[in-house]
Amino acid sequence: AAGSKAMSVKFDIQPTATPTSEKDRAAKLVDPGFGRVFTDHMSIVRYNQAKGWHGARVESRANFPLDPAAAVLHYAQEIFEGLKAYKRDDGGVNLFRPDANAKRFHNSADRMAMAPIPEAVFIEAVDQLVRIDRAWIPGGEGSLYLRPFMVASEIFLGVKPSAEYIFAVIASPVGSYFKGGPAPVSIWVSENYTRAAIGGTGAVKCGGNYAASLRAQAEAIDHGCDQVVFLDAVERRYIEELGGMNVFFVFDDGSLSTPPLGTILPGITRDSIIALAKDSGMRVREEPYTIEQWRSDAASGKLKEAFACGTAAVISPIGKVCSASGDFLISGGAAGAVAMGMRKKLVDIQYGRAPDPHNWIKKV
Ligand code: PMP
Repeated sequence: AAGSKAMSVKFDIQPTATPTSEKDRAAKLVDPGFGRVFTDHMSIVRYNQAKGWHGARVESRANFPLDPAAAVLHYAQEIFEGLKAYKRDDGGVNLFRPDANAKRFHNSADRMAMAPIPEAVFIEAVDQLVRIDRAWIPGGEGSLYLRPFMVASEIFLGVKPSAEYIFAVIASPVGSYFKGGPAPVSIWVSENYTRAAIGGTGAVKCGGNYAASLRAQAEAIDHGCDQVVFLDAVERRYIEELGGMNVFFVFDDGSLSTPPLGTILPGITRDSIIALAKDSGMRVREEPYTIEQWRSDAASGKLKEAFACGTAAVISPIGKVCSASGDFLISGGAAGAVAMGMRKKLVDIQYGRAPDPHNWIKKV
């Protein structure tokens, strides 16, 4: 019943009475960094059992009240997504695979026993926010990062699925992830912490996964590395993924491999890279790969490159792998040609500079 009610959601558009001036916005867009500058508006839709999804609005970005007993504050019933809007050279705006984010959000809601928001409402919430805040999309290699999320808002301290939810989308202009071209990252293999177990929540985008990854990421930083890479929770030897990116390996026979789905987040960038690699005739395997194999393939030269991928940075070459049992370099620590070629292919589609054979782009 909630689903059918929700399909008729119409967004009430309420532009802010106090928009940021053009001058202030231009200043904020000069060097926005990541996730600290926000646009003027947000989309919001509420859910309760009586009304289903209702009250869809685009309004001035503002605090929303949460009772101190709101379920999310105690039991972390929360999920989110991340996608980007890109400004094309002709001034138009592209969203990249928003349907895939809507679907993953649906799976996340299901795993966290939350009310699923219809995928069409998710996409409309994103689309309407981009429309009203399109002046905030940086030019050049910048983009507008969109953050849909949902929190359990029922006022109740019992441990059970909330009966009420707030879904919202906020937007943050971001600069090019790497100023002056992608710099290879160094990664720390976490042997003390794991990210996900079979039957757990590793395959969904719930806030708790990220809270639990912070200690491991801090350990990576302590060891002078940029990012943490997690191993599987059973044998503690199969590579899973980074804290916020999937990982690919490039071999001397031109083939690619990436860890299989199951306990990792099914990245939309990962899926897109698999498709583009197959389009160009490369062999791609989704198969387990151990840290020992990685070390020995790097030493023998069988492994040519490794790279991480995700919406925020697109593709980051991995230059160095560090662990308690010693460090090793990939591609001599430099950015590999396959990683950089794949990055260009993907970015050109996202910005509308190349054909879109898989219909990934939704114009706004
Ligand atoms: N793994 C994790 C744990 C992530 O948080 C992300 C970012 N969403 C990714 C992989 C990459 O996913 P995507 O390509 O959809 O951004």
